[in-house]
Amino acid sequence: MTDIRTLLLSRIRDVPDHPEPGVMFKDITPLLADPAAFSALTEALAELTVRYGATKIVGLEARGFILGAPVAVRAGVGFVPVRKAGKLPGATLRQAYDLEYGTAEIEVHAEDLSAEDRVMVVDDVLATGGTAEASLRLIRRAGAEVAGVSVLMELGFLGGRTRLAPALDGAPLEALLQV
Ligand code: AMP
Repeated sequence: MTDIRTLLLSRIRDVPDHPEPGVMFKDITPLLADPAAFSALTEALAELTVRYGATKIVGLEARGFILGAPVAVRAGVGFVPVRKAGKLPGATLRQAYDLEYGTAEIEVHAEDLSAEDRVMVVDDVLATGGTAEASLRLIRRAGAEVAGVSVLMELGFLGGRTRLAPALDGAPLEALLQV
């Protein structure tokens, strides 16, 4: 049987200099188009969701929506979108974070998370960790507990794991693939 990591890695396309020079973009669309690979990925992420006792998945816009939604259904937990600021229609909590140049803001509907929730954050790629770190702050500000962060791929050379450590506060960071 093909090792799941080999299968997943074989379906991720490296696109040099996208969206700007010097960035090696990890394109997961070939993986999404392959039902066996997409199913194996959602199963692995759902297993982590159940293992760490999560009650909700937070998916980070945009590819965290594509992965997080089927994982939530498979794990039998709710799905909560964290979106770029200005997109959600209801009352939100907003969190700013630093980019290489400038800042960005993300939001969550305040009513979607409560003190009863343990939350697993799902995304495709952990790069600098800035987005995931801001999402952990949102989850805690909403009164919920952090179950962990699960990603398809961690770009280790960008140091996201180190940046995320204080916000994780002992919760696990699981990456199915590391480069
Ligand atoms: P981060 O720097 O960890 O905050 O990355 C923010 C978002 O950008 C993540 O949700 C990723 O989906 C995306 N991203 C960053 N770097 C890459 C990359 N090299 N390839 C694909 N997606 C990326």
